[in-house]
Order: sequence, then C-alpha cells, then structure tokens
Amino acid sequence: MTMTTPSPTGRWRDAARAAGLLRADGTVAATIFAEMTALATRTGAINLGQGFPDVDGPHAIRQAAIRAIEAGHNQYPPGPGIRALRQAIADHQHRRYGLDVDPDTEVLVSTGATEALAATILALADPGDEVVTLEPFYDSYAACIALAGATHVTVPLLPSPDGFRLDVEALRTAVGPRTRLIVVNSPHNPTGTVLTPTELAEIAAAARASGAVVVTDEVYEHLTFDGARHVPIATLPGMAERTLTISSAGKTFSFTGWKVGWLHGPAELVTAVRTVKQFLTYSSGAPFQPAIAEALGDDVGPRALADSLATRRDLLCEGLVAAGFDVVVPQGTYFVVADGTPLGFDDGAELCRRLPDLAGVVGVPVSAFCRTPAPGASPDAPSDLAAHLVAGVRFTFVKREDVLRDAVGRLASLRRA
Ligand SMILES: *Cc1c(COP(=O)(O)O)cnc(C)c1O
Repeated sequence: MTMTTPSPTGRWRDAARAAGLLRADGTVAATIFAEMTALATRTGAINLGQGFPDVDGPHAIRQAAIRAIEAGHNQYPPGPGIRALRQAIADHQHRRYGLDVDPDTEVLVSTGATEALAATILALADPGDEVVTLEPFYDSYAACIALAGATHVTVPLLPSPDGFRLDVEALRTAVGPRTRLIVVNSPHNPTGTVLTPTELAEIAAAARASGAVVVTDEVYEHLTFDGARHVPIATLPGMAERTLTISSAGKTFSFTGWKVGWLHGPAELVTAVRTVKQFLTYSSGAPFQPAIAEALGDDVGPRALADSLATRRDLLCEGLVAAGFDVVVPQGTYFVVADGTPLGFDDGAELCRRLPDLAGVVGVPVSAFCRTPAPGASPDAPSDLAAHLVAGVRFTFVKREDVLRDAVGRLASLRRA
C-alpha cells in the first residue's frame, strides 16, 4: 500500500503516532479502514470492514430534509444548534432515560459525535492530564488525546464467557488524581459489549472519587439486542453533574453521512465545549437539523432497526462459526469480533490482508482499535490486551441480508482451505 500524505507537524504528528499511522520516514499511512476499503474495491471482495448501512434511513426523514432545503434552511444555523433540535434532544433524554436537560444551556449540536468528542477532549484535557478510555477504543479518541497533548491511559475489555467485560481492577488502577476525563463507549465498538449497571457503577465510583469528568459515546444507544438495555451513566447517582453525554443520529437512523451529533451535560462544561466548537466548525448541517428533530420523536423506527440488526447479527455470527472462527456474540452495535486462531491465523491484520483472496470478504483487524507499542518498544511487542485480541477481526453486519448470505457462503471456503 502506498497511500501517504505529507508529514504533518507538531501535535498532528503525535496524533498520527497515537493512531498508529506515523511511518519511520515521517509520512502518514492511510487508516486501516481506508486501506481495507481500497482492498475491497480492488479485489471485488464484500466489504464488511467499514460500518455504514447499505440501506438509507426512513423516507419521511429524507423528505423532511428536502423540505427544509426548499424552505430556505440553507445558511448558517445558530452555533449551538436550532432550538427545535435542542428541544427534541432534551425530550428524547427525558422520555427514554428520565434525564432533565435544559435545551437552552445544556445542549450543543455538533458535526457528528466525532466533533463532539474532539471538541470535548480539546476543551477539557490539558498537557499533563490523563484521559482514560476503554481498550479497544474508537480510533479518533487516541488522536484527539494526543492533539490535546494529554496522556492516554486505557482499561481493557477482556474476553470472558460473558463476552468482553470491563477489567475492574485495571479501572481502579488507571483512574487517579491526574485523571481529567474518563471516556466511556457503550454499546461498544468494536466488541458489541453493552456495559452492565454494575460495570457502570464502578466507572461512576472511580469518577466521583477522582473528580474526573465522564464523557460518554452513546452513538449505538438504540441498537441493542436480546433485551440488553443501554443505561446512560448520567442517570447514576451524582453523575449528571459530572458527565457529558454524546450521541448522534447517524447510527440510530441510518444517516451516517448527515453528521448530526450532539452532547449534553452541565451548563459550564457545555459552554467550554461550545467555545472550542465555535472555532472548529462554528455550526453544523442546517437542513439536516430540522429533519433529525423530527426523527428523534420516533422510538419505533430505531427499535425496528435494532430488531432487524439482531437477525442480521445471527446470520453473520452463525456463518463465522461455521467458517471456523471463534465468535463473541455482540449485544449491540453494528459489529462482531471474530477470532481467527482456530483457523490457524494468530494475526488479525495478516488475516485481513489475505481474506479477500482466501474468501472474497474484507474485515478490519481489532488491533487497529488497540494502543500501538510505546515509542522505542519493539513493534511486535503488543500490549497485554493486544496479545489477547491480536487475532481478532471486526466484521459489520449492517448490510442487507442477501449481501450477508453471500459473505457467509464465501467465508465457508475458509474451513475447506
Ligand atoms: C460511528 C461512531 C462514531 C462517529 O459518529 P458520527 O456521528 O458519525 O461522528 C463515534 N463513536 C463510535 C463508537 C462510532 O462507532
């Protein structure tokens, strides 16, 4: 692969290094997602690497965006977001979770959850601060923590008979007086873990004891299966006052390209984040905001999507098991992690590079969501966690059933290989 960009400078270099993308010659590699998508395009393999739906969201919501364009919602909207969307977010949080949110002072609309996360980390973490995340983690967290000049500390989700579970001992060790932020992603990408009330209570206790602010990434809040229930950590005792809750419309309504996200929390924290957001994007997607305000009134559509995803999850998981993978069945999200060890592959990245040839399917190695070895360490010395997960491959099941059936049929050839 020879996709590179010119060297960035300063903290952007640190960010690229934190994301595992900085090469010895100072150039920056394409992310593994771009590399795997390019591989799928080149080989004609089915792309189960990148997590975006191949069916767009509801017709009525698309029509609402078109109407908004025709009605003239085409210039800068207010920086914090239009009133109707902030109200719809507050109503959604009250209706679903019993949270009381002031739409005027406690809500900020953002360009996807990605911008809300970036602006939050840049606003609240300084050099010398520690930012704790789960591991594996969504790739943008490490880059933003490096951009802020802060130190990234991770707490593993470890494979167990109950799925990937929080390492509570590691959490207690990781969180301390230098911890400024604890970033919690549940339902969790890539493992599909939905943190239990007990796990959330452990995180809440650690945050209260250390004075840390909790930042949540709840973009899969509606996409849970088998009765697993998403509980926002802001609903736990003493937590609303120290939590910034982040979510987005992309995953819930199958409009990942619209990039409408939001955060809510105590007014002072939201104000700090708004100050950064105003110099990143200033404001976000005018005609999409009224459309998402309308969408947020509907809990039935997202439930139907979750039910259909559960069926597709079963289809893919059964296919992966039949192909010879070890699979941890996810309780939420778009993704399943499959371990290639039983097939004789102890390196997920290597398996992903060969999978198009072997089976005409593309996935993403779980190692892309893990820390890269510290500078100076041997590049083949993975962290303890990476050693557990190094054979893992993430596959998405947010594709049409016929596409998944095709993929499962192709994967069956692995067992015969
Ligand atoms: C997709 C995803 C995001 C990005 O959300 P946007 O609203 O598209 O910016 C953030 N976090 C996780 C865990 C995701 O999977």
